[in-house]
Amino acid sequence: MSTLPTRKIRCPECKKETIYSVDNSYRPFCSERCRLIDLGQWADESFRVPIKDDNEDSTWNHPEEDEKEDLD
Ligand SMILES: [Zn+2]
Repeated sequence: MSTLPTRKIRCPECKKETIYSVDNSYRPFCSERCRLIDLGQWADESFRVPIKDDNEDSTWNHPEEDEKEDLD
């Protein structure tokens, strides 16, 4: 028989008082919104990938122009 005591904590996002218990599936946040905000910040930092698509244009764009220059 073990019931976790309900603890009061402060939401790390909005600092509102909330409960830390199994009933609060957003813990340690107060709500889904705060949890998503926090996840969003986290994702923004680690999933930022430089967008490069130079492997598409470099060989396909000007094959004809290159040949003309060679003829001269
Ligand atoms: Zn909150």
